[in-house]
Amino acid sequence: MVLGESSCVGCGECVQACPTGALATADGLGTLAPERSVDSLCPYCGVGCQLTFHVRDERIVEVEGRDGPANRGRLCVKGRYGFDYVHHPQRLTKPLIRRDGVAKSANATVDASNPSAVFREATWEEALDVAATGLARLRQTRGPGSLAGFGSAKGSNEEAYLFQKLVRTGFGSNNVDHCTRLCHASSVAALLQMIGSGAVSNPVADVAEAELVLIIGSNTTANHPVAATFMKNAARAGTTLIVLDPRRTPLARHADLFVQFRPDSDIALLNALLHVIVTEGLVDREFVAQRTTGFAELEAHLATFSPEAMAPLCGVPAERLREVARRYATAGTAMIFWGMGISQHVHGTDNARALISLALVTGQIGRPGTGLHPLRGQNNVQGASDAGLIPMVFPDYRRVDDPGARAHFESLWGQALDPNPGLTVVEIVRAILADEVRGMYILGENPAMSDPDLGHAREALAKLEHLVVQDIFLTETAFHADVVLPASAFPEKSGTFTNTDRRVQLGRQAIEPPGEARQDLWIVQEIARRIGLDWDYAGPDAVFAEMTRAMPSIAGIDWARLEREGAVTYPCPTPDDPGQQVIFTETFPIADGRARLVPAPLQTASDSPDEDHPFVLITGRLLEHWHTGAMTRRASKLEALEPEAEIGIHPDDLARLDVANGSPLRLTSRQGELVARARSDPDLQPGQLFLPFCYAEAAANLLTSAALDPDAKIPGFKFTAVAAAPA
Ligand code: SF4
Repeated sequence: MVLGESSCVGCGECVQACPTGALATADGLGTLAPERSVDSLCPYCGVGCQLTFHVRDERIVEVEGRDGPANRGRLCVKGRYGFDYVHHPQRLTKPLIRRDGVAKSANATVDASNPSAVFREATWEEALDVAATGLARLRQTRGPGSLAGFGSAKGSNEEAYLFQKLVRTGFGSNNVDHCTRLCHASSVAALLQMIGSGAVSNPVADVAEAELVLIIGSNTTANHPVAATFMKNAARAGTTLIVLDPRRTPLARHADLFVQFRPDSDIALLNALLHVIVTEGLVDREFVAQRTTGFAELEAHLATFSPEAMAPLCGVPAERLREVARRYATAGTAMIFWGMGISQHVHGTDNARALISLALVTGQIGRPGTGLHPLRGQNNVQGASDAGLIPMVFPDYRRVDDPGARAHFESLWGQALDPNPGLTVVEIVRAILADEVRGMYILGENPAMSDPDLGHAREALAKLEHLVVQDIFLTETAFHADVVLPASAFPEKSGTFTNTDRRVQLGRQAIEPPGEARQDLWIVQEIARRIGLDWDYAGPDAVFAEMTRAMPSIAGIDWARLEREGAVTYPCPTPDDPGQQVIFTETFPIADGRARLVPAPLQTASDSPDEDHPFVLITGRLLEHWHTGAMTRRASKLEALEPEAEIGIHPDDLARLDVANGSPLRLTSRQGELVARARSDPDLQPGQLFLPFCYAEAAANLLTSAALDPDAKIPGFKFTAVAAAPA
């Protein structure tokens, strides 16, 4: 058996630890002596691992884990080996302008290595002028509401801050959003409503202090691999690990209790746990009385959710539900982690509400080793959200319709601001199709792959009168652009990034952008100047300095401190504050300081199975690929490990469909269809399918529905009814 076919996860720690050099990458790059080494961060997930880029001949030749607070020297396969995308021949190196007369089409595909049939090369002056003129013309002729912007959770805090400021002060509306809408918007909505803060209460590293860790709706080993290693360490050291998931995830092997429940039954399951806690006298009465409101309503609501009543819905025996509830409630310290299995539902906010209630009624929050941790997806989705890349809030989550908050930002930015919340990601797509939004500026996002119901999303992108895309590759979104601006990859710029633990960390530039590609902050400023904004930020440190004046949560952090300390956790309101790892220790940042318990009513998905669409499709990520695959599919080692889209399917279903493992399977939903190879996966339940969404050639979101959670406007990516048949 070769290594790639074994259970090795390719993290490369053995290579890093090998003292003799006997273990090395096959290409020998890591054995070359570097000319310089630059301390920076991993560009992929929200764990925020610190690393060092080793550079030779202006190329990254090796990546090494550093002793950062989130990784202690560890990296996963993406962080250690997924770096050569920056040197890929398909990097955009010159500005591009759509050729006259080349029509846009929802089904457009462009050869990313030879875009000349659709685009012509341009100078920066011309491309920036065309980009900005088109935006300014729409603002003038159609009004501020005709424009919208998508920023990126992969960019730095400074880029996110400037981009949302550009939309708010330059476009004149709050139509700015990013991929948080598609991952944890529901978690944040529930957290803000119930405890007044959308951030995690405790860092991942607190698992070492927890008697019990409960993980639900998170394939942690694939999506947050280094965080998962700390969970495994804790389990080995005696922490009770409870994993709840519709799929048997790899972490289930390390769990004391694994509960495989039916997809879409989260609310039934969580309310059953709450029912047991309330009816068996496991409530922390003192905590509930002193630190919460709404317990009587919650208690009344839970009366009908006995485990016996919910067991048939969840597919979990009542006694198992009781055991989970008892163990969680009676642990001295217990943490809850959750991922997009909870949040990506049309009832995602209610899923999160029920989880938050679990921690509140048991008093499992506000101490080390307790609390709530929604594992954030992209490397800077926490920071981009904090910086205001959200249509209803300014930086630091201050609502745009709050006159006090608006006055603060009008004073800081020197102009009147729109008092109305803007449109969210999917709402912007609908507004384009309704001829309301006509122009967009998209920085680093790839909605032509990441949005639900891609047929409609691509139709909307093609319909835009003016689309400016700023990216490092000609993505599926850039296919529809009028102007493409070649930007900088992560190792080509400096900036701050905030990980899932609320840690603000410095990413440092290691290499120069290729060709004429420019740094994102420079490009955003050039667009801003051309639409009439008088901006002159000397660099990311100048932007960060303004951010600390705008955001009390980071007021005590400055660039020099980040250089010195490497990472500072917010809230950090003053320079002498060490940064607060554990929050909500005394009060919650909400009206009277007491958390609100909010009942979660039983709901089901809108896109439910029927005779024609009997399977449930779950979409998600793979260990080796990240998000829409724009970077990792151009990282040679990662692509070699997982080069092809495969549909996970239970062996019993394969037999029923009379399809051999590895044969092509056609999936058809109410939104679209695709074909990919079947991969036998006994960790799924019969009737479930799994498809990663990183493969453009079998784009999973062609199948998903654009129905939204009413509170958070997040789509239900984790539950789509599909038919499966041999292709
Ligand atoms: Fe990068 Fe996340 Fe892997 Fe750490 S766990 S190396 S941050 S992808």
